[in-house]
Amino acid sequence: MPLSAHLNTFAGNPLDRVSDRRREPEWLADQLEATGTTVLAFWNGSALVQGGESEAHLARIEPGLAVELAGGDERLLFMGLDAKGGAVFALDLEGGADPAHGLLQGRGRFANLRDLAPLLPAGDCGMAASAKAVFEWRRRHRFCSACGQPTRVAEGGWKRLCPACKVEHFPRTDPVVIMLPVRDGQCLLGRQPSWPPGRFSALAGFMEPGEAIEEACAREIGEESGLKTVAVRYHSSQPWPFPSNLMIGLIAEVAPGEARADQTELEAVRWLAREEVVRLLADGGDITLPPSMAIARQLIAFWAAGEPPG
Ligand SMILES: [Zn+2]
Repeated sequence: MPLSAHLNTFAGNPLDRVSDRRREPEWLADQLEATGTTVLAFWNGSALVQGGESEAHLARIEPGLAVELAGGDERLLFMGLDAKGGAVFALDLEGGADPAHGLLQGRGRFANLRDLAPLLPAGDCGMAASAKAVFEWRRRHRFCSACGQPTRVAEGGWKRLCPACKVEHFPRTDPVVIMLPVRDGQCLLGRQPSWPPGRFSALAGFMEPGEAIEEACAREIGEESGLKTVAVRYHSSQPWPFPSNLMIGLIAEVAPGEARADQTELEAVRWLAREEVVRLLADGGDITLPPSMAIARQLIAFWAAGEPPG
């Protein structure tokens, strides 16, 4: 039974994370030698996959090879147990040369998650997103932010410890509110200058410390469009591993008023009637909506389907 009616791309990691076992180094070491253990491989943020242009799946390598390539605990992440009870680890490879043309020749190809998202099964997308987000954090937090000394990995890769000042560091998740302002059967879409021609999407922005989700939503809508928010409804969320965000999807009812792009984050905003959005979702047009893998499109499609009215 799904926890949410809306399962976004990169959510739905099927593994049992058994987080309590991360604190047992001997058990983790045993798992690396157990039958049924498999390892996913990543290289500079890209995942090793097998398959073609229309369909792919995460490739698995044997733990013995992964341990050899990892050269220690630093590049290994214990991800959890699969449905059969087999341990799943992830391996972080770095460097300039593509390992698929070297040590992992014949095991698959490395591809980035944006390109893979439409090709992978949902569970593979979820696992890849988890591993990528942790590895991106690891690469950015090799030194203690409190005292500047090198940190070392702990708890199967889910924590870093500073041997000098004893501070513990945990993987970051940076929350982003992403919302569709609506009023009287219309929704407001915005356009960032860097986007491809014709692309319009929902509004979005990073939450700030000390803000509730609803407050961040209202502030961002105010800053980017000048509109006042009167009600906020939660829709769904999406892990977004570029590098480690959590998109919090909302439908925001706004008060009457003129919408104006702030010309900093947005160069244009546009009200669209529900019928127009339905047509764009089905057939396209002069406006390009975001792709299916983006929670923004799911918000737009949900509202366009007429539930809830707004
Ligand atoms: Zn320190």
